[in-house]
Amino acid sequence: MDSPALDLLHRVFGYASFRGEQAAIVDHLSGGNDCLVLMPTGGGKSLCYQVPALLRDGTAIVVSPLIALMQDQVDALTQLGVAAAYLNSSLSPQQQREVEQRLLRRELKLLYVAPERLLGERTLELLERVPIALFAIDEAHCVSQWGHDFRPEYRGLNLLHERFPQVPRIALTATADAPTRAEIVERLGLAGARQFVASFDRPNIRYSVVQKDNPRRQLRAFLDERRGESGIVYCLSRKKVDETAAALAEDGFDALAYHAGMEQAQRTANQQRFLREDGVVMVATIAFGMGIDKPDVRYVAHLDLPKSMEGYYQETGRAGRDGLPAEAWLCYGLGDVVTMSQMIAQSESGQERKRVERAKLEALLGYAEATGCRRRLLLAYFGETRTSDCGNCDNCLNPPRSWDAGEVAQKALSTVYRTGQRFGVGHLVDVLRGQDSEKVRSWNHDQLSVYGIGRDLDARQWNGVFRHLVAAGHLAADHEGYGTLRLTESSRGVLKGETRVLMRYEAAESQRRAERKASRKRGGATAHNSLQIADDERPLWDALRAVRARLAKEQNVPAYVIFHDATLLDMLREHPVSLRELAAISGVGTTKLEKYGEAFLSVLTAETAD
Ligand code: ADP
Ligand code: ZN
Repeated sequence: MDSPALDLLHRVFGYASFRGEQAAIVDHLSGGNDCLVLMPTGGGKSLCYQVPALLRDGTAIVVSPLIALMQDQVDALTQLGVAAAYLNSSLSPQQQREVEQRLLRRELKLLYVAPERLLGERTLELLERVPIALFAIDEAHCVSQWGHDFRPEYRGLNLLHERFPQVPRIALTATADAPTRAEIVERLGLAGARQFVASFDRPNIRYSVVQKDNPRRQLRAFLDERRGESGIVYCLSRKKVDETAAALAEDGFDALAYHAGMEQAQRTANQQRFLREDGVVMVATIAFGMGIDKPDVRYVAHLDLPKSMEGYYQETGRAGRDGLPAEAWLCYGLGDVVTMSQMIAQSESGQERKRVERAKLEALLGYAEATGCRRRLLLAYFGETRTSDCGNCDNCLNPPRSWDAGEVAQKALSTVYRTGQRFGVGHLVDVLRGQDSEKVRSWNHDQLSVYGIGRDLDARQWNGVFRHLVAAGHLAADHEGYGTLRLTESSRGVLKGETRVLMRYEAAESQRRAERKASRKRGGATAHNSLQIADDERPLWDALRAVRARLAKEQNVPAYVIFHDATLLDMLREHPVSLRELAAISGVGTTKLEKYGEAFLSVLTAETAD
């Protein structure tokens, strides 16, 4: 029962089947109806309008806010043998006229246009002279003032409906929240349009949070297992970005920096390298990411705490757009909680705004401190309830021991109180552990009743206790930046034993060392890369990637425009040795088979020969 849509999907895109609601959306839009599509990043939004564009008569007009994104999409479509072009300010007048001529000759199946360009009278008149297949409004949340990427030009897009009432429209976004959705519907005149709302789960992303003790070493260990993979490392400050990138480069990683304080030319060059080449580590502030459509980002690592769950979801969402295994790794410690609370306290925002920011931070801290399934928490935050644990987060894979830490918490709070609420965690831990330091002696803290009452935990474990107490609001950090801790309203309940303190159990350092050693002995370090490429698969994998890199370079396009990792992985595992077998690989359509089939086969068959 081959439908024309499915046939196109096989022939042009080389995919076996539609995903999730794609088939229903394609059907709806091809039939001439409006719709609003909410799908997470990587959900497969593009196909929802690209297939109808090919099924319907005329040219599909795609509104997109970002020049880099348009170029990417047009490159990718061209590779598939689909006639596509874009109109934006990056074109010379001559190039622009050429695109317009192609449109008037009815050669184009898809035309990407920046909103301000589309709404110009010249473009509108041009569009009235040719048949239009559909309007696709990508990143539709840009119309919303409450969203994070408000674009005033998007407000004008309701004009499309008035000028072209017969042409079906599809609006797409990855922004989930209800107020934004309502605003899109209102502003774009989509009240009568059907809404397709997908789950916002990203099942291929593995979430994990580690306690920060030596971030540079921890990051290196994480990256060591992922050499050759593309990833993003987020830091809070520009300075830390520069330092981290330099440190990684020193350790032999292909690491680049990106932040708003750099020169524009350097920033663009770094971004281009990240997009086009395999295996670049981008160390960046959150200035990096908007419009980064790279499908094969294998990990997103946070060296600092993001501001909110929304931010965390969006930033980590840049990993694994291609659906292959990817990681979201957060390295987090007491210092982060302190820094974030200070930033909120010292910001210029009004009281109401600060209250909202604090609530957002608390939600994120709840996530970071969680002992249960992280995905459930993340989705619950966005209003989605899951009835089962995910099996693909650190807490599901290695359930932490959670323990009733009431007594330990009381010791910690008493120590804060007895020392006068004017010390940071380092000194407090020294007192608890009965250390003989200069500071302890000079303050006579060895005379206190709490001195040495916490020898049963090591310094790392005590750090974890303090972090949890601050995150849970039972302790507060000063706002001046000295890192001193004081009691709060809710400390009393803990001290009196009325408030339960449940926290994850952090293993002692000695025990962790023993475990690491045992794991090395078992040979636990092989195939730890995200895609689980085994050692004996490595030569063929590298050879396939080398062919892809060569072809990409010849045409000056990003590697993933030739084939996605998912397609190379399928080649690696299925090992096709003829053009016919190669055609069955996911992502290999007719045009790409003709263009690249032989090049990849030569590698695949060379491998079998020896
Ligand atoms: P979004 O715009 O929603 O972030 P994309 O349209 O970029 O997502 O698609 C994400 C990835 O999934 C791309 O690599 C795309 O080629 C792939 N993809 C989308 N739909 C399918 C499908 N039906 N079968 C296989 N791969 C698909
Ligand atoms: Zn889980």
